[in-house]
This record gives sequence, structure tokens and C-alpha cells, in this order.
Amino acid sequence: MDLKEEIHVYEGFPKDGISFKDINSLILNPKAFKHVIDEMSQVAKALDADLVAIPEARGYIFGTPLAYLIGAGLVPVRKPGKLPGEVSSMAYDLEYGSNVVEIQEKAIKPGDRVIIVDDLLATGGTMMATAKLVEKLGGEIAGIITLIELTELGGRELLKNYFIHSIVTYP
Ligand code: IMP
Repeated sequence: MDLKEEIHVYEGFPKDGISFKDINSLILNPKAFKHVIDEMSQVAKALDADLVAIPEARGYIFGTPLAYLIGAGLVPVRKPGKLPGEVSSMAYDLEYGSNVVEIQEKAIKPGDRVIIVDDLLATGGTMMATAKLVEKLGGEIAGIITLIELTELGGRELLKNYFIHSIVTYP
């Protein structure tokens, strides 16, 4: 199945110069969605993970069925101020400005093996901040799984110490 045919590309969204890969068209097609979750779960089964960490909001879409299929728990990775109780934070730089991701401290126990799942890997900033946050809480990164990888933005190089599986690549 050619998954690229299912991913609509919007030039100039959300601003000029960006070629936005829209996964909403893919998840609308049940065969394409199943194909993606089946491939992700094949890969994930070999990683022997306890938990799947899901950056909001699109990581939820793929990470939730994946965790169900491999028998792992889910750890939401959220923007600041959304999670109750003790939370741990990690800031990371964007081209202009910075972002912060948060995880509830009790979500991860020392030694837990964690897969991070998102829709798209670009510069790798989101994944790297999530990986560092998991490690700060004593977890181990079992691997990173993403539907789309934008290969020219350097995410794989930034994350070279981790196993990465992407399903569809664009330059
Ligand atoms: P990174 O932190 O630069 O690797 O960017 C990855 C994050 O940005 C992911 O959470 C994506 O959801 C989002 N993102 C960046 N570019 C796109 C795109 O073209 N389509 C959908 N999401 C994108």
C-alpha cells in the first residue's frame, strides 16, 4: 500500500515555506490506518517495552492502539499546565522561541522501558525533549516510532543514540 498517497500535503500551512504533511487524510482510510498500526506493532513487539509515551496531540492517535496491541501502558506527554500532581518538565528550543513538555512523575518507574510514538519526526526536538524527560525519571528509551520522517531536518542525527523506526520518509 502506498501510504504517501493517503497523506495530503498542504503547501504554505501553517505559514509560508512549510510543506505540511496532513495525517488526517490517512487516518480517515481504515485500511491505511490499520496498515500503519500493524507495522508499528510489529516493530514495537521486538522492543520489549513497558510503556508507550505519546506527545500530544497526534502521538495519541498512533500510540494508543499500539500500546493496546503490545500490552503496554500509556504515558501522555503534554504541554505545560495540563497535568495534575507532581510533574517533571523539559524545555527545548524551536527555530523561534522554545517549548516545554511535561510528564507526571509517578508515570515512570526506574528501569521502565519506554517507546516514544509520534506522527512525525522533523528536527527531532520534540522527541529529544521527551526522551530526556523519560530518562530524567529513570526510564530507558526502548525505541522511537514515527509514521513520517522528514529526513533533511536532522532528527535522526540528533537522536542517533536511539533506535528509530519511521514508516514513510520525505526529503
Ligand atoms: P520536531 O520537534 O521538529 O521533530 O517536530 C515534530 C513535531 O512537529 C511533531 O509533534 C509533529 O506533530 C509536528 N509537525 C511538524 N511538521 C509537521 C507536518 O508537516 N505535519 C504534521 N505535524 C508536523
